[in-house]
Amino acid sequence: MATVFEKIIDGEIPSTRLYEDDECVVILDINPVRKGHALVISRKCYPTFTDVPMETLSHMMEIARRIDQKQREVLGAEGTNIMINNSPASGQEVPHLHIHVIPRTEGDGRTPVMPKERYEDGEAARYGELLRI
Ligand code: AMP
Repeated sequence: MATVFEKIIDGEIPSTRLYEDDECVVILDINPVRKGHALVISRKCYPTFTDVPMETLSHMMEIARRIDQKQREVLGAEGTNIMINNSPASGQEVPHLHIHVIPRTEGDGRTPVMPKERYEDGEAARYGELLRI
C-alpha cells in the first residue's frame, strides 16, 4: 500500500511544496511543531533511515541544510531541529524516509523536545563498551 508521502509525491494528495529534484521532495508538515516545519522526503520509498543508500541520505541532508538557511533568513529562526524518527519505536508514523526541519527561536516553549534520563554509577561505561564502533 502506498504511503501518504508517495501519494503526495504523485500528486494524489495536496501539499505545500517547497522544493523538488530527482532524489527528494520538500513539503510543509501539515501539523507543524512550529510554523514552517518542513519535511525532506526521499522520492523513492525507503521505509527508514537504516534502508536508504548513503548518497541519497547525504543529498537529502544537503537540502535540509538549505531549508535550515531559508528558515533562518525568512522566518528569523535562531535554530532548527533536524530530526529523523527511525522505525515505529522511535515515533515514526510514516514508513517513508523523511527529515524534519523545524524552525526554532529562543523561548519558543518547545524545549526540551524529548525528556532525558540519567545513568546510574558505572552504567555509562558499560553502554560505552557495548556501543563503541
Ligand atoms: P514521523 O512521525 O517522523 O513519521 O512524521 C510524519 C510527519 O508527517 C508528521 O509530523 C505528520 O504531521 C506529517 N504528515 C502526515 N500526513 C501529512 C500530510 N498529508 N501532509 C503533510 N505532512 C503530513
